[in-house]
Amino acid sequence: MDVVTLGETMVAMRADGLLRLGTTARVSVAGAESTVAVGLSRLGHRVRWAGRVGRDEPGALVVRTLRAEEVDTSTVREDDAPTGLVLFEQRLPDVTRVQYYRAGSAGSRLGPDDVVSALDGGTRLVHLSGITPALSTTAWEAVVAACDRAAEIGSAISFDVNFRSRLWSAEDAARVLTPLARRATVVVGSPDELALVGGVSDLLRHGVAEVVTKRGAEGASVTTPDGTWHAPAHEVSVVDSVGAGDAFTAGYLSGWLDGLDLAERLARGTACGAFAVATRGDWEGLPTRAELDLIGSSRGTALR
Ligand code: ATP
Repeated sequence: MDVVTLGETMVAMRADGLLRLGTTARVSVAGAESTVAVGLSRLGHRVRWAGRVGRDEPGALVVRTLRAEEVDTSTVREDDAPTGLVLFEQRLPDVTRVQYYRAGSAGSRLGPDDVVSALDGGTRLVHLSGITPALSTTAWEAVVAACDRAAEIGSAISFDVNFRSRLWSAEDAARVLTPLARRATVVVGSPDELALVGGVSDLLRHGVAEVVTKRGAEGASVTTPDGTWHAPAHEVSVVDSVGAGDAFTAGYLSGWLDGLDLAERLARGTACGAFAVATRGDWEGLPTRAELDLIGSSRGTALR
């Protein structure tokens, strides 16, 4: 594998109107780490997603979708608890209300055992996010086990802080996520999230090689012990901004895997972020490698 990632993927329902009025909805799947996995797979990397799904139809949808995206799901486990659910209601063109039904879900039952099988066979990179440790004690232990195992087998770690205030307090998140972030080679977050885990300088002092700051429509930057590089965001019409961060991370890590320089890694990240905001859904609009260059196309271009 090039990348192994783990976390929770839920069934996602995107309402076409207001839920309280009764409406139609599109059913898909959503999860930060699996969005990164799909993004990397479309860019041609070999990726495994590990996690637990319920013994139910939403669980079958999660696994089938990821397999269809050529993400390896061979170590995914079924669990007696139900697959989690997330509801999206778009209230304004760029304002989405998100509600989660994931407490006690199959995904939250992830544990260290799942990590052992997922990392069997090795990988260049283990991608983790700050959502997983918030799901349950065993899921937190799974993330710690993934860091331990990555160190043993010589894999690099990327860590997206991904603070979710619905899951825990900032204080609890800072206490748990700071030591995890310090173990990573690449840490990704918004300015607020990076401050939560000690800030850019502190992370570099603790041995993190690259700290990547996502700045929404202002683009992204990366800081290493040698300096800071910045890339502007691409100008696109925003259709749905949810998932931009994970898309960006997939692009940045793809550049890392390909050995691109820091500016080129950022450029691939911002290209993927632009695809994500310009299309509906978290992962559906992510580019293949051949499509990456479309981002520079002039308006009105028709591909014939
Ligand atoms: P989310 O939590 O919604 O997934 P995030 O806060 O983790 O997002 P952002 O910083 O919003 O991540 O977005 C990641 C990247 O996506 C940005 O660095 C940028 O390159 C791209 N992006 C985000 N918003 C826009 C936008 N409005 N126009 C163009 N590109 C954007």
